Amino acid sequence: MDLNFTPAEEAFRAEARAWLEANVPVGLPSGDTAEGFALHVEWEKKLFAAGWSVVSWPEEYGGRGASLWEWLIFEEEYYRAGGPQRVTQNGIFLLAPTIFEFGTPEQKERFLPAMAAADDLWCQGWSEPDAGSDLAGIKSRAARDDERGGWVINGQKTWTTRGAFCNWVFGLFRTDPEAARHSGMTYLMVPLDAPGVTVRGVERLDGDEGFAEVFFDDVFVSDDLVLGGVNEGWGVAMATTSSERGLTLRSPGRFCAAADRLVDLWKRQNAAGEHAERVAAMRDDVAQSWMEAEAYRLATLADVTGLVNGVSQGARSSLTKIFWSELDVNLNETALRLLGPTAELIETSPDAVDGGAWMKGFEFALSGPIYAGTNEIQRNVVAERVLGLPRK
Ligand SMILES: Cc1cc2nc3c(=O)[nH]c(=O)nc-3n(C[C@H](O)[C@H](O)[C@H](O)COP(=O)(O)OP(=O)(O)OC[C@H]3O[C@@H](n4cnc5c(N)ncnc54)[C@H](O)[C@@H]3O)c2cc1C
Repeated sequence: MDLNFTPAEEAFRAEARAWLEANVPVGLPSGDTAEGFALHVEWEKKLFAAGWSVVSWPEEYGGRGASLWEWLIFEEEYYRAGGPQRVTQNGIFLLAPTIFEFGTPEQKERFLPAMAAADDLWCQGWSEPDAGSDLAGIKSRAARDDERGGWVINGQKTWTTRGAFCNWVFGLFRTDPEAARHSGMTYLMVPLDAPGVTVRGVERLDGDEGFAEVFFDDVFVSDDLVLGGVNEGWGVAMATTSSERGLTLRSPGRFCAAADRLVDLWKRQNAAGEHAERVAAMRDDVAQSWMEAEAYRLATLADVTGLVNGVSQGARSSLTKIFWSELDVNLNETALRLLGPTAELIETSPDAVDGGAWMKGFEFALSGPIYAGTNEIQRNVVAERVLGLPRK
């Protein structure tokens, strides 16, 4: 096994590093408010203009045709430079791989370049008030309209991340109510300005409108907005969830950069000499978090080797999801314990360490075992589909 990158890949890294170090914005506000989101979109447009928004896509769709290895390298450099969360993530990391796999040439042409340029901003419409873990329990319907050549949607989605700021939603809708639970669903792409769509922002505890509810009242979508086959949405959606749980949504670069920052925090706390006993006692915990991030990086290199050789992640992406989400909670929790009561100081406090970022990181990490399918569900998937254990 050779863990070294080639000279060409190292040159790619150097180019990405130089650009990111010169351009990554400092201190962008949260992308979960309308104002913050707009600033994040500006950043996305800058990334696109310089050819860095979707490095692994073919050039014709706005990428630079980079390999998966180079994509991993870019991600490492992006987070190393302190790049902000990608508010385009639902489009570029989740929908796009699904369009590459199932989309028609017209759909690729229509949607991918606008997504890469952050002109179209996508949110994800899976969950409904009575269908979260049990995604096959969705009730939102799309009824056939032969006269107009399309579908009429009625129903509701919920927990739609940044839905209040996006202009498109993709999701699953029941098109054959008589079919078995996992059949009879179709994957549709819906413009949020279509007549009959109502988007209502949901305030989180911190006051940001990070979520939305999306209501559909007789919303018409034409046939060209069906992704994959009619009534075949479950299989198409599984491809999207595999991207979400597996490689594309949470690459190791993000966690390796956080682990490096944790080590740096420990060194600073140690040098400051305050609470020496606590800081010294936490040395192993900090090392443990760093090793977990590194383990995820190495496991990803193995996964990418498989992907490059045509072995898809499939249900193994559930293992990946459990690992990254739990390591993120451990890492941020370690930082909070290291900081002690200081961890609770918010960004406006002059004594807040690293601008209060560790508490924010911890709060967000807590949602990792829930979104992209809860970890309990992922453990069920691993038991049944990876280990082949019998269903109870
Ligand atoms: C930060 C964040 C962002 C999100 N963004 C989106 C988004 O953009 N679009 C979207 O559609 N959804 C989104 N969601 C919703 C998310 O997908 C759901 O919260 C998740 O699937 C769980 O569904 P639920 O909340 O209805 O909980 P439930 O399904 O009601 O589950 C409740 C509890 O029961 C457990 N449980 C349920 N069934 C089983 C079982 N069979 N075996 C063992 N345990 C079980 C679950 O693990 C969980 O602990 C987001 C959630 C979060 C936290």
